[in-house]
Amino acid sequence: MAETYEVIVVGGGFAGIEAAKKLGRAGVRTLLVDVHGYHQFQPLLYQLATAQIGVSELARPLRSIFRNQPSVRVLTARVSAVDPERRSITLSDGTVYEADDALIVACGAEANFFNTPGARENAYPLYSATDATRLGSELVALLDQADKDTGQKSMNVAVVGAGPTGVETAGAIADAINYVVPKLFAGGLAKRCSVALVDMVDRTLGGFSEKSQAYAASRLVERGVRLKLGSAVTEVRKDGLSFADGATMDADLVIWAGGLKAGPLLRESGMPQGRGGRVDVGKDLTAPGYDGRVYVLGDAANITDDRDERLPQLGSVAKQSGAWAARNILAQRAGRPTEPFGYKDRGYMAMIGRGSAVAELGRSRRLVRGPAAFMVWLAVHLALLSGASQKARALVSWIFTYLSHTRQHVFVGSPEQAAVEEGADRPAA
Ligand SMILES: Cc1cc2nc3c(=O)[nH]c(=O)nc-3n(C[C@H](O)[C@H](O)[C@H](O)COP(=O)(O)OP(=O)(O)OC[C@H]3O[C@@H](n4cnc5c(N)ncnc54)[C@H](O)[C@@H]3O)c2cc1C
Repeated sequence: MAETYEVIVVGGGFAGIEAAKKLGRAGVRTLLVDVHGYHQFQPLLYQLATAQIGVSELARPLRSIFRNQPSVRVLTARVSAVDPERRSITLSDGTVYEADDALIVACGAEANFFNTPGARENAYPLYSATDATRLGSELVALLDQADKDTGQKSMNVAVVGAGPTGVETAGAIADAINYVVPKLFAGGLAKRCSVALVDMVDRTLGGFSEKSQAYAASRLVERGVRLKLGSAVTEVRKDGLSFADGATMDADLVIWAGGLKAGPLLRESGMPQGRGGRVDVGKDLTAPGYDGRVYVLGDAANITDDRDERLPQLGSVAKQSGAWAARNILAQRAGRPTEPFGYKDRGYMAMIGRGSAVAELGRSRRLVRGPAAFMVWLAVHLALLSGASQKARALVSWIFTYLSHTRQHVFVGSPEQAAVEEGADRPAA
């Protein structure tokens, strides 16, 4: 017979841990399962990939987060199937667990390559600490190769997708080329390095205001980022990109920040999938059917606000949806009705690079740009990071990196070694 818990949570991301914390505080017997033994803070992945911070700044052991909540059991395992009818999960070793009261599916998303030929094989996604480590190792390896081959070899990086992730990544690489490479490598290597940001739409930072988009584009160009906007990538090759307008671009490394879609767990769950393969949840965050006892949260769900507008895949949406689902589950257990999700919109922000960021604050989208937004970005991300020691280390790393123009973090192992992770998509060697 399957072991039972009152609530089962799949995924220890923003949504899953927020739900489990609230349930744990109420003493609910909860099982939290994640394939990794740690929570990872995705907004700082591009900083891990560019060695501005180390892995222990953005990842925190799940067992440490729940050390004072005895009713929450943390299990490190891959969930291979969820059965919403039975509110059960099956692990990759065949073990089955059932939830008496509610099943929460908060398994995040994965890179969406939109069937672009060669993208899955040749581009580097940036969705996990493993992705960021592999990407960082490859960047360092390319710089070392170019350094050995004085005067000849170059290092050209192309970032596909000019949303916040692409902008932040391209800006960070440009800053490394402008400030760090000249300091750490001799012989004018920086002049042989370049970074391009490409997108099928003709602007950066889709979803932000036109002013923010124009500001981001001008600051990126100022830093030396080549923009190629308004033409779709039709192929990713080992040595570059092809575009719908017939153009080509040489690249030693292609980073994919082109979008997200639901992972295989949702596809095979039988739950009806909407845009991006995500589950269209009701106002109270439950999947339609299943007696209102199956919640789908964060990046795995299409969640709407009180104006029926679809909310973006953001940490704040995931976090708040986790807390709200727990609140609804506690209400159900007490025989009270669930309530529609009340999202508190705090706005958007994106880092462009040293001293430059944009923030559109609150529902009114009050625009802040430049050094002020840079400071707001740092403060907000520091506050959101999980764990006091993670926050302290990130702050020290940021100060050191900003003042010294060097890097203090290393990537242990080759890009190929960093790629060894069960079940993940890998670029071809
Ligand atoms: C590079 C990047 C930068 C971002 N920057 C920002 C930003 O600046 N601001 C912002 O608000 N948002 C940002 N986001 C978005 C934000 O990080 C996500 O919206 C948020 O992490 C979603 O939380 P989640 O809990 O739904 O999923 P996730 O955080 O992805 O967590 C899902 C968890 O489920 C686990 N899991 C998945 N499948 C299984 C399985 N089969 N078995 C067991 N466990 C499984 C995973 O290991 C993971 O821990 C960024 C995202 C990325 C990728």
